Amino acid sequence: MEGDLERILLSRQQIAGRVHELGQEIAQTYKGGESDGITLVTILSGALIFVADLIRHLPFRMKIGLITVSSYRGATTQSKGSQLQQDLNVQVTGRHVLIVDDILDTGGTLRLVRERLAVCQPKSLRTCVLLRKPGKAPPDVQAEFVGFDIEDKFVVGYGLDYNDHYRNLPDIGILRREFYAIT
Ligand code: 5GP
Ligand code: MG
Repeated sequence: MEGDLERILLSRQQIAGRVHELGQEIAQTYKGGESDGITLVTILSGALIFVADLIRHLPFRMKIGLITVSSYRGATTQSKGSQLQQDLNVQVTGRHVLIVDDILDTGGTLRLVRERLAVCQPKSLRTCVLLRKPGKAPPDVQAEFVGFDIEDKFVVGYGLDYNDHYRNLPDIGILRREFYAIT
């Protein structure tokens, strides 16, 4: 599986270090907000591994919500627009909501989830992404917490897939060209 990578972009050690730091940044922001209730809304499936590691660095009481969005890549690396596949499974009205996603690319996924959550009238709404491809998402779709800015290449590993494979790679890397289709 590792042989399918052109190169590793972020090692498991780099990821672990940054996830720990992100946890500290988030804990600082939500200090004192616990009594109002905090819900982390995880965008599946890509953020699965990230959220599992992140929450163990968050020292406050929280609930976890799940929402599944398909960005319609399938066997390609091109997004064909985002669509809600499975709706949010918890109530977030009046709660502090932190959306957690794997990567912010064009912003289509995040826009969809933010619009879905906004109608529930949460007390606050913020976003944390592990990766961001800078300059691609419009200014009104941004994340408050960002793990790493990366180059505009298609990456896999640590939850990120290509056609549902490679999520279990511990590192994040760029897939070799012969393993994916662009169209
Ligand atoms: P956006 O909607 O911001 O264009 O893309 C966000 C979603 O598309 C992410 O949640 C992720 O599932 C997928 N995505 C975007 N860029 C990449 C990438 O480089 N690799 C993988 N595996 N998925 C990506
Ligand atoms: Mg995703």
